[in-house]
Amino acid sequence: MSSFPLAPDGFAATYTEARSAWLQAAAAGGGRVSGLQHPDVGPRGEALWLDVARFGDPQAHSVFVVSCGTHGIEGYAGSAVQTAWMNAGGPGELPTGTAVVLVHAINPWGFAHGQRVTENNVDLNRNFIDFASIPAPHAGYTELHPHLMLEHWDEAAIARAFAAMDAYRERAGEQAFSDAFNGGQYQSPEGLFYGGRQPEWSRRALARCLPEALGPARRCVWVDLHTGIGPYGLPFFFSFDAPGSWGRQRAREVWGENAFSGKGSTHKAFAVYQGLMIGALAAMAPGCAMSPVVIEFGTHERRRMQRAHLALAWMRRQRMASEAFERAAAEYREAFVPSDPRWRASVLREGVALCQRGRDALVAEVR
Ligand SMILES: [Zn+2]
Repeated sequence: MSSFPLAPDGFAATYTEARSAWLQAAAAGGGRVSGLQHPDVGPRGEALWLDVARFGDPQAHSVFVVSCGTHGIEGYAGSAVQTAWMNAGGPGELPTGTAVVLVHAINPWGFAHGQRVTENNVDLNRNFIDFASIPAPHAGYTELHPHLMLEHWDEAAIARAFAAMDAYRERAGEQAFSDAFNGGQYQSPEGLFYGGRQPEWSRRALARCLPEALGPARRCVWVDLHTGIGPYGLPFFFSFDAPGSWGRQRAREVWGENAFSGKGSTHKAFAVYQGLMIGALAAMAPGCAMSPVVIEFGTHERRRMQRAHLALAWMRRQRMASEAFERAAAEYREAFVPSDPRWRASVLREGVALCQRGRDALVAEVR
């Protein structure tokens, strides 16, 4: 189709291109599309939406959901996967009692502006906490923070930041370092992995979309697509449901034992994350048993990703364009959306297969 807005590798160059390709594919596949418009706009004044496409039985009791863009810029991959899957037939004919839901750009501001965070520098995946009891300032983060706020984006400043991070890690250990660096903090609005002071627009919008998106569902398998952790171009799973819970059991049935082995991790120790979106779904959808997982597509090794996080915190504090800003922005984008055609092809291949796997498990459940 001549109006097809994606590059031949299936990835969009802008949020608006990603959205129009997604909407086109959803309409062609017979999806029922709804959405909520964000109050802000993109860098070129473009409209920002959280979109939902629903396929199948409106009265379904069993639903499979694939969401993307919780971390803004990481939505380039998730959107490409969703669109490619729909264009390859997608959910197709679904038996009575089942439905598939695709959620596009949970954080459309970050997607359009090429950042992981929201308009308020909030890591949406640290924002789903109870703000009546905000976590106390984290001593480790308090210590690291001044070292993470670079004054200039140059190699000397970056090396000083890493020296401070390494010193902290050596003294406090890998786990304490991860908790401090990226577990989530609620004290420094300009800082890294900031969880905010209130529910972000994206959190409220998702909560508003859920009743219609899930309908009368009683069981839901949910996949939230991300990039940045795990083996290059390959999926890496996170499941936070307790062993023995229905959610964990169902995730095992659908995704297999290997999905939870931790093989291919790019982290020596994962932080105890606070305020994850998938951890809040059960409370947001009472009456529906949830089996949520995060699926990451690995990009680069952890140090390079940490550089990207430092770059974003620096970029957000710049008021003027500069050569250093352009360099930091390019490095940042490459960290979360590698331009390497092999990476992109692998993400599409693996991502589409995972969508199909989730869909097949849904269908098998009611047969
Ligand atoms: Zn992410």
